[in-house]
Amino acid sequence: MAEVASHRAVHDQERDCGMNHTEPKYEAFALRYASRPGMKSEHFFHYALYQEPDTELGLDYYFWVLRNQNRTVLVDCGYNRDRALERKNRRQDVEPVELLKMIDVRPQDVDHLVISHMHHDHAGNINLFPNATVSIAKEELAFWTGEFAGRDIMAWTVDSEDVKTVQRLAKEERLVVVDGESDVAPGISVTRLPGHTPGQLITHVDGLSGRLVLASDALHYYEEMDRDRPFSFFHDLEQTYRSYGELRALRDQGSTIIAGHDPAVMTRFQRVNDHCVDLTTQWSI
Ligand SMILES: [Zn+2]
Repeated sequence: MAEVASHRAVHDQERDCGMNHTEPKYEAFALRYASRPGMKSEHFFHYALYQEPDTELGLDYYFWVLRNQNRTVLVDCGYNRDRALERKNRRQDVEPVELLKMIDVRPQDVDHLVISHMHHDHAGNINLFPNATVSIAKEELAFWTGEFAGRDIMAWTVDSEDVKTVQRLAKEERLVVVDGESDVAPGISVTRLPGHTPGQLITHVDGLSGRLVLASDALHYYEEMDRDRPFSFFHDLEQTYRSYGELRALRDQGSTIIAGHDPAVMTRFQRVNDHCVDLTTQWSI
């Protein structure tokens, strides 16, 4: 917590002095650790309503790395290899730690980990990062430790072991509970954009090539934002629609929006390798 407090203090000081530009901009990478084939009708809620032919649309699984010379920040950390295989028969193409190694990040180098929401494919490897302070939204923690978390329609999306890990971090004072919005570090902040889950967070980044928004599962596919089509799983449909509107507004203000599961992310940015793209390279369509 002390480290977080000092980040905040530095940030406030810089803002007061108008010196925030002194913080180096961030490199940003999307790392794809798994993918699976699928059809559009599986991914979009009530797809038949749109009266379009059903076509193939895969689902990619990512987490994200932000880095400058002062710090390394992770947004999400992927599903746990062993538990996902055992409980859901889901495999990884490359283990998250191996992916990090490809861009010269060691687990102990990670200073901060943002958990965008508690779904198992985002929060399964928190224990791999011994030095990371972890951020999560207040509403997300409250929901998954509350009375409705165990209901069938909810419970399958979250691994209770990950919830226990987050609770343990709170006791160790390594958890930052975000109330609405929070600065993670100079040039990186999070805001709550609910709908998919009660406390879904998006991450704003001063990237090397401009402002980025890592939407995580506030936006699985670009089509949700571009055509106002909700993803198949949500906690609150009205909030989901509202959040798409907020992402469109951020896009229109000049931020580059990074979708959370869209295979298009791998083709719109420059590849570092088969599992990694550099999000600070030119967007191409
Ligand atoms: Zn997800």
